[in-house]
Amino acid sequence: MDWGLPMAVCLGALYVFAVRAESPSGVYRAFTLIDAPRHVLLWPASLVGWLLVPAIIGGFAGHVIAERISRAKSISTHTLFRQRKLRQRLRPPGLIDDLSAYFHGTVAQQDFVDAWVRVAHRNDWVRAQDHWEVFVRDTMSTQQYAHLDRHECLRQVQSAAKMVLRVTARSCGLCLVCERRR
Ligand SMILES: [Zn+2]
Repeated sequence: MDWGLPMAVCLGALYVFAVRAESPSGVYRAFTLIDAPRHVLLWPASLVGWLLVPAIIGGFAGHVIAERISRAKSISTHTLFRQRKLRQRLRPPGLIDDLSAYFHGTVAQQDFVDAWVRVAHRNDWVRAQDHWEVFVRDTMSTQQYAHLDRHECLRQVQSAAKMVLRVTARSCGLCLVCERRR
């Protein structure tokens, strides 16, 4: 039996009665267990909240974990052991970008260097380059990029890393590698 419908009806009825009994914020505070219920009609709201909130959190955690597991399994053995094409084999491996070249690069590259080197590393170029390479290297060895060939992997990781690192540098003024090594 699907319990969603009766639960929604009960919650709806409860909500209407509770709103008529007291102010909406009182209902909310009783439902989320911030305040003890002060009215007899608020007791069911408090009880339902006590029962539902762990269920919602548990359901969300379960969803996240299931998602992680399914992604880890998503690489089929067919793609895993596929032979590389001749062109892919003959091309030399790519290099992680040198950030000093970004200084006179495109607007997006200059913006990234400004956030990453000036804001997050206080103009310490050597340290910024080192932490950039550490972050790109570690991200490249994660499961998400395992099915790509090495050039595509490097390209995608660098573009994703630029987005993530620029946002953290701009919003919090910090570098993830510095934080982790502190
Ligand atoms: Zn750093």
